[in-house]
Amino acid sequence: MILAKPDVKLVPEIGGKRVREMSDGFIDELRKAFDHGSVLSGADIDARYYHDISGNPVPKPRAVVRPRTTEDVSTLLRLCHREKVPVTTQGGMTGLVRAALPNANEIVLSMERMNAIEEVDTATGVAIAQAGAPLQKIQERVEQDGFMFPLDLGSRGSCTIGGNISTNAGGNRVIRYGMTRDLILGLEVVTADGTVLRGLRKYIKNNTGIDLKQLYVGSEGILGVVTRAAIRIFPAPAERQVALCALPSFGQVMSLLKLARTNLGGELTAFEVMWNAYYRHTVERVKGVAGPLPTHHPFYVLLEASGGDAGRIRADLERLLETAMENGLLLDATLSTSNASAAAIWRIRDSSVELGRTFPFAARMGFDVSLAIDRMEEYADTLEARVKAIDPQAFTIVMGHAGDGNLHPSVYHEHTPDKHDEFEKLVYDLTGEFDGSISAEHGIGMLKKPYLKMSRTAEEIDTMRTLKRALDPNNILNPGRIFTL
Ligand SMILES: Cc1cc2nc3c(=O)[nH]c(=O)nc-3n(C[C@H](O)[C@H](O)[C@H](O)COP(=O)(O)OP(=O)(O)OC[C@H]3O[C@@H](n4cnc5c(N)ncnc54)[C@H](O)[C@@H]3O)c2cc1C
Repeated sequence: MILAKPDVKLVPEIGGKRVREMSDGFIDELRKAFDHGSVLSGADIDARYYHDISGNPVPKPRAVVRPRTTEDVSTLLRLCHREKVPVTTQGGMTGLVRAALPNANEIVLSMERMNAIEEVDTATGVAIAQAGAPLQKIQERVEQDGFMFPLDLGSRGSCTIGGNISTNAGGNRVIRYGMTRDLILGLEVVTADGTVLRGLRKYIKNNTGIDLKQLYVGSEGILGVVTRAAIRIFPAPAERQVALCALPSFGQVMSLLKLARTNLGGELTAFEVMWNAYYRHTVERVKGVAGPLPTHHPFYVLLEASGGDAGRIRADLERLLETAMENGLLLDATLSTSNASAAAIWRIRDSSVELGRTFPFAARMGFDVSLAIDRMEEYADTLEARVKAIDPQAFTIVMGHAGDGNLHPSVYHEHTPDKHDEFEKLVYDLTGEFDGSISAEHGIGMLKKPYLKMSRTAEEIDTMRTLKRALDPNNILNPGRIFTL
């Protein structure tokens, strides 16, 4: 198709670089290239494309393009590449670091109409989905065939597999099945100039040069647009049982993790740690949450085992708890007796947002960091002391996926914008001091960009820039996310 030369002019992008502002001529050109309803502009753009998860507005995009096919994505990027028009790709918009929200002058590429699950192949253990397919839709589809897709997040109903891939999402079962990166067999990707990389392969072993698909996992849409994915699926475990344990010290938490790994092997599907303050406040303050153990113990661990044989899972968990008790690791423990009691234990662990709402005087700042497990206790103690040094009324509440080296500390303080910035800096500086990662799961986006240097060296960030320049020479894909070129 020959397209008329549109009329574009240069305007400053957030972050100082100059990008092209799209003119009405370019929007007309997009309309000619796509079918009716694929290109929205002006009053037709619904607020959901430019409001964050809390309902706060960002700049309204000049256009929203909703492709139906990989070829549509390719056409859009080819045009934007030619005219240097920046594009932000949107999946379910559940990301927490302001990566998918448009900056000024960007087009939104919404994947919402590419949401089909094209194939479920239980013989190979693979499903093929378009990138806009919601995670929960994939989970439910493979369950119909007795299989599971192990990735699971609180945002499962809205987040998409394309967003999960682009953020390398984690979640609750990482200790057993790994991050999204470990669950991807092949990807189809459209590069910045519209080239389609057809890498939708269904096998694990493939040592034929650079593994290109991994470039697109976790790179937050700055290197290409994922259009389809071949994902690993597993026979669904028939049984899932949960234990809640009380422990006297963090040393015992680490010993229990080692014992659980040794004794349960592949049956261990979650190992979640809660500091006393998290467990106590959640049980005492969050409506509908009941704690099966008393609230005065220093640490609590939620431990989940799953597998095909209910009797064996229960026996293995009981034996683990007996051994842990004999070795002096536990003060108390309880084992789920039904799906309902297992869900009630998980509810304690999953109530951090609800807990935050029970402190009406305070703003809750949630963080998502990774650390070596043997440094977690010192990190949490140091964080609490430094928070108190800034504001004696402020306090911290800590829990996390200890088995994955991932903590979610929260800082509670009386809300003022200057304190918000001070606490944020404190947490990321401290994470850097402990050689940790400032983003275990959620990515960098725009929000954590100033702190990237706490977790990555200057040489690493320069290498990322080199990759970005090579794969997106006109800097049109999610410009300004992760780092500024
Ligand atoms: C209640 C709640 C719980 C959460 N729990 C977890 C958790 O346990 N673990 C975790 O890791 N995260 C969690 N998150 C964060 C979020 O859900 C994940 O980051 C998720 O993977 C984002 O998917 P999405 O489809 O919403 O992506 P979006 O928010 O739409 O986009 C995220 C990034 O991916 C890019 N992108 C989206 N689709 C594509 C595509 N097809 N091609 C290229 N780039 C693309 C976007 O441009 C952006 O950079 C949670 C969020 C909420 C609200």
